[in-house]
This record gives sequence, C-alpha cells and structure tokens, in this order.
Amino acid sequence: MDRSKLYRRFRTLLIANRGEIACRVIRSGRAMGLRTVAVYSEADRDAMHVAMADEAVLLGPARARDSYLNIERVIEAARLTGAEAVHPGYGFLSENAEFAQACLNAGLVFVGPTAEMMTAMGSKSGSKALMEKAGVPLVPGYHGEAQDEATLAKAADKIGFPVLVKASAGGGGRGMRVVNSAAELSAAIVSAKREAKAAFGDDRMLIEKFVQNPRHIEVQIIGDSHGNLLSLWERECTLQRRHQKVIEEAPSPTLDATQREAVCAAARKAAAAVNYVGAGTIEFVSDGKEVFFIEMNTRLQVEHPVTELITGVDLVEWQLRVAFGEKLPLAQNEIKLDGHAIEARVYAENPQKNFMPSVGRIRTWRTPDAVDGLRIDAGYRDGDAVSPYYDAMLAKVIAWAPTRQAAIERLNRGLEETDVRGIITNIPFLSALVTHPHVRANTIDTGFIERELKKLTEASSEPGDLELCAAVAAIVNDEQKAARREAHSPWQTFGWMPVGQRQRVFSFRQGQGPEQKVMLRYGNGPSTISIGKHQFVFATSPAEGEGFDLTLDGMKSRVTAVIEGHELYLRTRNGRFELHWVDPFGGETEEHVGEDKIVAPLPGTVVALLAEEGATLEKGAAILTLEVMKMEQTLRAPFAGVLKKIRCKVGDIVGEGVELAEIEPAAAS
Ligand code: ADP
Ligand code: ADP
Ligand code: MG
Repeated sequence: MDRSKLYRRFRTLLIANRGEIACRVIRSGRAMGLRTVAVYSEADRDAMHVAMADEAVLLGPARARDSYLNIERVIEAARLTGAEAVHPGYGFLSENAEFAQACLNAGLVFVGPTAEMMTAMGSKSGSKALMEKAGVPLVPGYHGEAQDEATLAKAADKIGFPVLVKASAGGGGRGMRVVNSAAELSAAIVSAKREAKAAFGDDRMLIEKFVQNPRHIEVQIIGDSHGNLLSLWERECTLQRRHQKVIEEAPSPTLDATQREAVCAAARKAAAAVNYVGAGTIEFVSDGKEVFFIEMNTRLQVEHPVTELITGVDLVEWQLRVAFGEKLPLAQNEIKLDGHAIEARVYAENPQKNFMPSVGRIRTWRTPDAVDGLRIDAGYRDGDAVSPYYDAMLAKVIAWAPTRQAAIERLNRGLEETDVRGIITNIPFLSALVTHPHVRANTIDTGFIERELKKLTEASSEPGDLELCAAVAAIVNDEQKAARREAHSPWQTFGWMPVGQRQRVFSFRQGQGPEQKVMLRYGNGPSTISIGKHQFVFATSPAEGEGFDLTLDGMKSRVTAVIEGHELYLRTRNGRFELHWVDPFGGETEEHVGEDKIVAPLPGTVVALLAEEGATLEKGAAILTLEVMKMEQTLRAPFAGVLKKIRCKVGDIVGEGVELAEIEPAAAS
C-alpha cells in the first residue's frame, strides 16, 4: 500500500485512552506543537487527561465497552474535532486490528503498526509460528490449530510437566494456568478457557513448557515506514504478581553484554519478520541461560519510561515521527545506554486484602518533585475519583541513576515521599519490595512476590514517641493555622497561649492498637511533651516544601501530616502512620473548653447510634458513628455527662458542623 496513505504529517492528535498514558501522550504531543484531543466516558468528565487536552469529546457511559472500546464513537470523535491521527495508548483498543483498520478507512493516521502486522503478531500462537519460521528461539510448546482435549493432553505430555496453559489472545496475565501434572490439566484448561472467553472473546489455548525460576526479559523495538528497525535495549520485568508486572527496570541486571547483544538481535529479527512499523516490544522468558520468545506487544508498553531514561529517547515523540512518515532519527549504533532506570506501578489496591481494588475520591495526592533522576507519570490528581470501571493503575514512579543501587534508592525515596489519601494504594508494598535484600541483590524470579507476600504486606509498625509527638504537633499547628485565619482569636499572635502554664492531654490510637496518652505543657518557656515516663522539649517550625519540622530535645526531624477530622495521617522517618485522635474535644484541664454539642466534623452519613438519650456517659464513650468518604469515624463524649439529646438518625446525610447530639456535663465532683 502507498505509504503516505498510512503515515503522513498531521496537526491534531486524538488520544483514544485515559489515565496516565493519555496524559503521557498529550505531554509529548503538545511539546511537538500538536493540538490534542481527549476522549472520555461519563465517569471521567473531570479526569486529568480531559483537563490536559486542548479539546475533549464524551464517548458514552462509564463501561469501557460503551466508551473507550467503542470504535465508532472514537472515530466519530475524531471527525467532530478534525483530528487527523489517533494514538491508542496501551490497553483498550491499542492492539485491536479492527480499530487500526477503521482509523485507516476513516482517513486517520493510526499511531502504530498496520492492522496486518497486528493480526500477524496479535495471537500468541500465530506469532510463535511466525517466529519459529524466522529462527527466533521459542519456549518448547504446542501452538497448533487443533484444540480438542486429546491433542492438548498429548502435547502437554510431550512437552513434559510443569506446563503453562495460555490463552492465545491473552494479555495482562489473564487466561493463564501453571499445570504441574497430567491430572490437573483438564480442569486448568476449562478454567483458563472460561477466563479467556470472558476477557478476550476467544478461548483458543496454547501450551508451553513452564520455564523454571523464570525471568522476564523484553526488548523495546521501533520501526519506521522506510524499512529501518532499531532495538532500544532490554528491560527486565521479573517482579510480577499473577503474571502481571509490578516493577520494571532497564537494562536487565541479569544479562551480560554478550547476552544483551543476543537478545536484542533476536528481537530485531522477530520484528523484521513482519516488517514492523511503530513501537513494539518483544517479550522473552529466560531460564538463566537462554531466552525464549513468548509474545510481541504491538504497542507502547506501560514500562516504556525506563527505556526512555537510559536512552534519552522520547518514545512517544518517535512514535509520532514515524506516524508522520519520517525516518528514525538515529542509527542502531547511536542508541546509547546510560545508567540504570527502575519503575514502580502505583495501583489503587489494598495489598493487605489480597490486592482488592480501592475506589473512591483521592483526597490528597502529593508526589515529590520530579528532579534529580525522579520522574512521575500520573493520571490522577487531588480530588479525582478512582472509579471501579477501569484498570486501577494511578501512576508510575520512575527513577534513574548511574547505578542500579542508586536508582533503587531514588525510587524508594520517591515512593516514600508520595502521599495518597482517600483511597488505599500499594505504595508501602512497593517500598517494601524495592528495598527487599533479594531485589537489591537481584536474586529473584517471577514467583518471588508470591513467596514473600506475607513479609511484603506486613502491617505498619506501632507509633512510637516520635509519631505521638508529631501527632500533637500536627494538631496544634492546624489549630494555630485555623486561628490565624480568625480575626479576633487569642491565638492570633504567633506562639502559644499568652499567660500561665497550661497543659493539654491528647489520646491516640492506631487501628485496634492500645490508646496512648500524650501530655503537652505549654505557656511560659519552652513547651514540653510527656509520654509515660519520657519527657521531651518540644518545638515545631515550618519546613521547606511539604510538612513541618519537629524538634524533640534538640533533634530535628521532618514530618508530613494530613488531618481529616479526628483521623491523622503522618509520615515520619519511621514510615507512615494512621492515628485516630480519640478525644478531640476535650483537653484543657483547667476548664471545659469543650462544647456540649457534638457536631459533624466533616460531611457524612450517620451509620450507627451507639448510645441512647438519657444515658450516662464516661468521657470518651462512643455516641455515634459517621461514615465520611467510606471511612467510619466514631464521635465520642468530650467529657463525662448525660446524653441529653440525639439530633440525628441512622441514614441521615449531614453537612459539616451540623449538630448531631447534645451532652450535659456531669456536675463537677
Ligand atoms: P500476557 O499477554 O498476559 O503478558 P505473556 O505470555 O507475556 O502473557 O506472559 C505473562 C508472564 O507470564 C510473563 O511475563 C512471564 O513472567 C510468565 N510466562 C509466560 N510464559 C512463560 C513460560 N513459558 N514459562 C514461565 N513463565 C512464563
Ligand atoms: P504490559 O506488558 O505493558 O504490562 P499487559 O498486556 O500486561 O502489558 O497489559 C497492559 C497494561 O495495560 C496492563 O498492565 C494494565 O495495567 C493496563 N491495562 C489493562 N487493561 C487496561 C484498560 N482497560 N485500560 C487501561 N489500562 C489497562
Ligand atoms: Mg506479556
């Protein structure tokens, strides 16, 4: 076909995707002077990629098949906005040959390979047959047409157990089962077929030798429409959970220079077999000695930034240049390999609950500045909703350094300095993972995460003195800040209370842990804090950037805090802590400054009444539970007394500051 029909210069680019990859493509498109068009679903009206693009078109309802997977709607969006080209990102329609063809038919440039190339490489069976012919080393296996049970069983026997049963149309680790013996085979095929049918609408299976203690090695390649084809070194993605990558790095710390040359040459050979145009990845598994082809991904990959950081190439820019019909700007021997890069995928999921996805609104999203070799590719911001409809990946934290160890340190620091609230993320898990001695030493295989899961998902440690002092400091700083906004407040002049020595008792609890009391003394002279028998001279000062500095007995330490009603999130040098402030109303020992009204600290829903009108309450007794942003908060008696009135019922949706109950203090004894 005439090349200029497929690839030519354009000015307006539509990005048929969402989240971090849509944002990533928009960034490079804009840098090249292109006008960018986003598409979105009803769930994504306020999403970051929509805000970033010059124009945006609503595709349809939240469900992917009604929006991001709806080929006609995407093509229509291009027509409506005058877009001349489409970048598919990854996932969604990125490896859909029908979509690539539909773009061509509509006169649009598809930023990627042709439908024919996709079809040739899209099925794992088909591509393996092609690679076999081209002389690329394959995992021993069966990738024939016949799908009857007897044929598959015979093939598995011949290969020798353990084998891997794999959906030919598979992706994202789905439709795949490790089978250890002939007895398990039939059940594994049935369940893999079921999963594949549901996920890909195609249940054809292939069978491979399951490579023992495997490592995942892949090579980035890119071809132009003039017959040039380059490899941009390899990545290693051995840290996987359920066959899904979690951490990726480049170059592979496992290969030596000879092996590196060999795998890159094999990848070029693989791509050349289909005269490949565009960016793609050739994936291999390695048994420590040899590498075997497993599949090709005919698109940009999630982990492409690690390649960008070691080569200095902007792969999206190159994809767009190839789509313009340009020649690749460098020759093979001009592709540099500088230092080491490592990436961690940040997901909205709870590692402690079997990685269950976490949905909700992001209340805090803070990432460190992208300087000194750190790069953050995010698709979400403060206030964005994480909906249950799409992949739960929120962002990628990527670090570069001259050496692997230094890159790991930078990545870990980048993770440690990322604070996300409102939803649960895998960030602590990622930190534990990248700093694990076996990861540092590169003594891993793809089963490593599963084996070490318990250790990698351990609950955070108990708060110590530093954290308890930090909690008090955070509350006091917060109160002072609020007071400074009030015109006639006694707090208005900076510093503590004007006269006399005062004291205040705080009480905190983390999870189901014990309640811990902290006494703050302030007024004339330096403030002090006591926790049990320990006493510290205590001061806080604003820090550069996020957080504040806490000084205890002359030792300064950086603290980051977020206060949400009675819930405190703290990050100290010891990690992250989530404390519940047990008695936020009480405190001043000389007098009641507490109110006799219980009010909603944040807008929420009353989910439980825990005391009855007329009841005599101890100080701290639970009165009712409010659900705020899917988090339950129990409001407690600020002092001992009688519950005079309950002014709400279960199910009430209440605004911030609404009075919920009234309590009458017990007569002073
Ligand atoms: P997907 O399309 O889901 O990415 P792949 O074929 O790339 O499917 O396999 C996913 C992962 O499963 C690989 O990254 C690798 O870790 C593992 N894997 C695939 N094939 C084999 C094999 N034959 N032996 C051992 N592990 C394998
Ligand atoms: P990769 O090798 O690049 O990880 P996979 O075949 O594992 O490729 O899947 C592509 C990636 O795209 C996944 O890691 C997943 O996070 C992401 N993904 C999968 N489905 C979707 C989707 N519907 N929308 C956006 N991203 C998706
Ligand atoms: Mg793969």
